[in-house]
Amino acid sequence: MSKVHNFSAGPGILPQEVLKQASEACINFDNLNLSLLEISHRSKNYEKVMDEARSIVKELFEVGDEYEVLYLGGGASLQFAMVPYNLLRENGTAAYVNTGVWASKAIKEAKLIGNTKVIASSEDKNFNYIPKGYEIPGDADYLHITSNNTIYGTQMKSFPKCNIPLVCDMSSDIFSRKVNAKDFTLIYAGAQKNMGPAGSTMVMVKKDALGKTGRKMLSMLDYQVHIKGGSMYNTPPVFPIYVTLLTLQWLKKNGGISWIEKINQQKADLLYSEIDRNPLFIGTTAVEDRSNMNACFLLKDASLEPEFDKLWKEANISGIRGHRDVGGYRASLYNALPLESVQVLVDVMKQFESKKG
Ligand SMILES: *Cc1c(COP(=O)(O)O)cnc(C)c1O
Repeated sequence: MSKVHNFSAGPGILPQEVLKQASEACINFDNLNLSLLEISHRSKNYEKVMDEARSIVKELFEVGDEYEVLYLGGGASLQFAMVPYNLLRENGTAAYVNTGVWASKAIKEAKLIGNTKVIASSEDKNFNYIPKGYEIPGDADYLHITSNNTIYGTQMKSFPKCNIPLVCDMSSDIFSRKVNAKDFTLIYAGAQKNMGPAGSTMVMVKKDALGKTGRKMLSMLDYQVHIKGGSMYNTPPVFPIYVTLLTLQWLKKNGGISWIEKINQQKADLLYSEIDRNPLFIGTTAVEDRSNMNACFLLKDASLEPEFDKLWKEANISGIRGHRDVGGYRASLYNALPLESVQVLVDVMKQFESKKG
């Protein structure tokens, strides 16, 4: 089997060694001669997985016991509802920054739960930049932001300074760079972009922010119920959580966030400098807001697309067609993607230039 260079936007690439370990655990987990898929989540062996999967998040984020980590089903999309349900007081207000489709979906859910204000938006330019310099209402219950906009390829390079609780959807750039996690009251991420496979969503929340809404809470939607149950109030998505743990252990073993941040920067620099240099291509977003995780670009002459597509497919490149809302191309540069794969893509772009020139 020849190597495929996997630029998929999500579910995204995982480290090869993690996939091997995960497939072993499907047959014989922890030398039990049982599959991880057929044992109780209450078994000692699985409880250890859950404990480590929760603690490694706090370790990587460098936070203490004022935070709790949960792994929940329902995707990041369920968090669009759970965040306001748990943090927005009955007569309070939530503030949102609208930076794309995912932020818009979060806003839609929040509006169904309570008073919701969009305080900034980049919708006027099809979300190709990050709004800046907006005012944050000091009396809102929280401010919700999206750190990386997977579809458009924009990323917040710094976070708003505010004295209200800050909530962030980090689905597509979690653990890709150093952030000061203590500045956030709640961080959530669907695992399938940068921290594991689809099926579980990580939520890290400051305990003292909970239990203040005044609403009667449905158990399954109540963070406090899940915290009390050790993230096992009901049967958790056992396998996705295990593979997430393996992926985070891979990250930690290799040098953690400071290690991966450097490589991610190299990958992004390599690709964006080719996008800017190569006369056939053009980037789609404001340069200062370019995402290090999802690089979006177009062929200036769209009629050349079939020819270019043939070339990168021949080079064993997969998953660089752009999202239907943006068109063109999107190369996702998640943690597990090696620099070497980006070099292959850049070489194909150069090759295409000489063919056309
Ligand atoms: C993919 C994505 C989502 C949606 O995740 P699901 O797990 O499919 O619900 C939400 N936010 C961001 C930033 C994403 O990239």
